[in-house]
Amino acid sequence: MDSLRLYFDHNATSPLCPEARDAMQAALTAASERWGNPSSPHRFGHEARVALEEARSDVAALIGAEARDVVFVSGGTEADNLAIHGAARAWLAAHRLPGHLVTTAVEHPAVLSPCRRLADEGWRLTVLPVDHDGVVDLDDAGRSLTSDTMLLSVMLANNETGTLQPVVELAARARKTGVLVHTDAVQAVGRVPVDVERLGVDYLTLSAHKIGGPVGIGALWMKDGAPFEPLLTGGSQERRRRPGTEPLLLAIGFAAAARAARLRAGADAIMALRDRMERELHARSAWIRFNGGGRPRVGNTSSQTWPGIDNETLVIRLDLAGIAISTGSACSTGASRLSHVLTAMGRSADEIGSTIRVSLGPATTDTHIDALIESLTAVAADLRPTGEVAASRAKR
Ligand code: PLP
Repeated sequence: MDSLRLYFDHNATSPLCPEARDAMQAALTAASERWGNPSSPHRFGHEARVALEEARSDVAALIGAEARDVVFVSGGTEADNLAIHGAARAWLAAHRLPGHLVTTAVEHPAVLSPCRRLADEGWRLTVLPVDHDGVVDLDDAGRSLTSDTMLLSVMLANNETGTLQPVVELAARARKTGVLVHTDAVQAVGRVPVDVERLGVDYLTLSAHKIGGPVGIGALWMKDGAPFEPLLTGGSQERRRRPGTEPLLLAIGFAAAARAARLRAGADAIMALRDRMERELHARSAWIRFNGGGRPRVGNTSSQTWPGIDNETLVIRLDLAGIAISTGSACSTGASRLSHVLTAMGRSADEIGSTIRVSLGPATTDTHIDALIESLTAVAADLRPTGEVAASRAKR
């Protein structure tokens, strides 16, 4: 029998969901028998085009959008870059001089990094602070918007804490000043209902592998008429917004995952499991602290600080017990730097070094949660510094 292997790192990537696996398996057969390039005029090409546009419609439906406004890209990183640089290029084409960008201190590097690159190129950049739970202040954000602000980029749900930003309210303020709004919804879709009309944004980022789809595809949704200049030039695919032969197999997997995620979004079964886990962990180890728990969060994410315990040791010990959790964002793995998200939330280096992220998925069950609670409690009790060690650490 296989030894125990439980996966609680869905925010890093999620296993391919059964719906995506089945759809891609069927599509593989079709691909080997009769597929052409979606841009080709013959029947092979036509079949591929029909399948691609069906996939686009399914992805659009996940966010309440029109299919024609969805651009397939290689993933969340590309969609974030494309939104920010694409909007910036359109601004430069109209205004010639760089303007102002506003983002938040807790964004994913896929947003922060292009914003910083533009700052290096002469754009003025405001990075909004967040409160103890990781949420941006509406008035702070409102005050930051000026007549030369081109774009406000605010994520919907944070990848480390699950905290939701008040994107609807922020977008409403931005609209009053004529500022464009981008939201990175990579960690929100499938976990909370996401609707582009309700959000009132101009650009929205999606990634397939966070919702049970394949790695290697994502989408940028752009409101009809939103300013945009493509970064790549080449063929006329994706209505010239992102040239290159479309990855049909991946799009089919993305679409199947999107259909499944749409049914799931807003269902509170995962949240009930996460909340029970947090309650029981706290009941057994009253010294644990949860990050972001004071505000609305997506239901699958739990950021936990275990004071005095080295988070990497905790992750390794749980891995040895067959349980996968993480120290935080997978993107900073190996970089051994402190989480910029928790730093922005006012956590100390010691607290950050004692913080883990547990992220659940649709296949997580009560039994899995029980096993996690048992292992985590036992390993944490084992690693917890004794009174003496804790006192000497505190003096340092
Ligand atoms: N945005 C957020 C909030 C993420 O969590 C991630 C991945 O961790 C990305 C963007 C990047 O997505 P991808 O891995 O598809 O490039």
